[in-house]
Amino acid sequence: MIVRYDWQEAEIREIYNTPLLELVYQAASVHRQYHNPKQIQVCKLISIKTGACPEDCGYCAQSSRYKTEVTPQALLEKETVLNIAKQAKASGISRVCMGAAWREVRDNKQFEEVLDMVKDVTSMGLEVCCTLGMLTENQAKRLDEAGLYAYNHNLDTSRDYYSTIITTRTYDDRLNTINNVRQTNVTVCSGGILGLGETPEDRVSMLHTLSTLNPHPESVPINILSQVKGTPLENQPDVPFWDVIRMISTARIIMPTSDVRLSAGRARLSQVEQAFCFMAGANSIFSSDDGHMLTVTTPCPGYDADSELLGLLGLSMRAPFVKKNQTIPQTI
Ligand code: SF4
Repeated sequence: MIVRYDWQEAEIREIYNTPLLELVYQAASVHRQYHNPKQIQVCKLISIKTGACPEDCGYCAQSSRYKTEVTPQALLEKETVLNIAKQAKASGISRVCMGAAWREVRDNKQFEEVLDMVKDVTSMGLEVCCTLGMLTENQAKRLDEAGLYAYNHNLDTSRDYYSTIITTRTYDDRLNTINNVRQTNVTVCSGGILGLGETPEDRVSMLHTLSTLNPHPESVPINILSQVKGTPLENQPDVPFWDVIRMISTARIIMPTSDVRLSAGRARLSQVEQAFCFMAGANSIFSSDDGHMLTVTTPCPGYDADSELLGLLGLSMRAPFVKKNQTIPQTI
């Protein structure tokens, strides 16, 4: 199978609606052509600046517009970040993602401090990803010079549904930041969230947008909404597990070289369900030493539990930078 950038929505819809076991079989087959199915990349998220975000993302515990249990926290000291990264590395983690609850990056002292963190964590031999909000091309270049490996900027949902969830920026703002990152050597991490009240059509539409970016995002996180008390989406129903499988499988088939990350919401999946996700082509997870992802509102399994799970399934943790020099198969 070749890597395609000309997917039509109708084709993606057909894949998404394939009978489940057939879909998983097809996705698993594609996965084995492009990835080592015995390896999972394990990542650690660090919230380097928490809460008090001016944006109004309806799912987010860090928006200043909602009263949630998150306590705002100023930018962490570099030493604190380095210590967390060190512990993560000792536990086999190969990628550290640093998140700041900002609308956008500003050219100020705090950005200089983040650049310094990126440099030092990278020099520990870890892949570093940042998620800092909107970014100019020049800021992306500065992150690139600091050694940044990836920049996360999720599309979250479809273009049509986006303004139901977020009103303080547009879909095109998102795509613009992704495009700015693409002007550098920094890889792109962009995916979405299931459970925002979107329809299957919205999911197909978001996958269409991602899979027609050329090149595809190197990393595609699939998040399951963790309903946060105090946010507009606190009463959303749980996402059916098989919807998660459909999403992972479809992403795997249409973006075969990308890492598909089973991200937020994994804590509520059983070991068997997680195994199914790996079979369907998910090849990355987030693990944690403190029981949560970015904030206390999103639980995350711990290093020991994940190490046990991977061992049970005959999987191992992927080393850092394995994909950096990988040849991308023939493209059209
Ligand atoms: S998702 Fe990011 S941009 Fe949106 S409110 Fe939360 S921290 Fe702010």
